Amino acid sequence: MIKETEFLENLSKVKSEIASSCLKYGRSLDEITLLPVTKNWPIDAVTFCRNSKIKSVGENRVQEALSKMDGNQSMNFELIGHLQSNKAKHVVGKFSSIQTIDSLKLMDRVNSVALLNDLIQPVLLQVNAGNDPAKFGVSIEDTEALLEHAVTLNGICVDGFMTIAPYDPQNKSVARSCFSNLRNLRDQMSERFDCRFSKLSMGMSGDMDEAIAEGSTMIRVGSALFGNRAPVV
Ligand SMILES: *Cc1c(COP(=O)(O)O)cnc(C)c1O
Repeated sequence: MIKETEFLENLSKVKSEIASSCLKYGRSLDEITLLPVTKNWPIDAVTFCRNSKIKSVGENRVQEALSKMDGNQSMNFELIGHLQSNKAKHVVGKFSSIQTIDSLKLMDRVNSVALLNDLIQPVLLQVNAGNDPAKFGVSIEDTEALLEHAVTLNGICVDGFMTIAPYDPQNKSVARSCFSNLRNLRDQMSERFDCRFSKLSMGMSGDMDEAIAEGSTMIRVGSALFGNRAPVV
């Protein structure tokens, strides 16, 4: 695990890259939230973020995230990893957002646990906007049907969409067209359902610039902040 001074240097580098992308594409800096991804790193990663006045972090494994929540009540945790419906009971009400809803079954489970606990769980729909066979996510074609169901449920609130671009560092246009697909889908769904779906969680360490170009409102950054080598856990 890196030292906090190194984290602070990385953080200011990432922030200035976000700022220059914003300038380049005419975006306003306050439209974009930086979500540090602390998965695979010890609790210190969360502490560094808290010390830097960052309010939310992303985690992709339920158990790991739940253990980091202990002693971090002031932090918000967002679930960005695949969720099995039988684990819904462990996550509803614990995560400030579940970004990975991608099926009717999972949506129904999250909704019923939320209703049982008398709460409304904020969620994003994960869309496989890059048609990547290796990625989770509802297809672009099936998103409307999923939303039709979502609007009948009282235990969840769909704030927007999330995607993970296909990995192709040699050809950045692959990521960019994935993000553009998601933005267009959001615009169509906003019109269709008369709802803003204002959150677009897209862009990671390797494709932040492309994501900001296409309207991202949340960049999920792991390696650019904490380094590449994940420790053995
Ligand atoms: C790990 C992860 C990230 C961060 O990826 P980096 O390339 O390390 O920035 C972002 N989003 C999801 C869903 C992840 O699992």
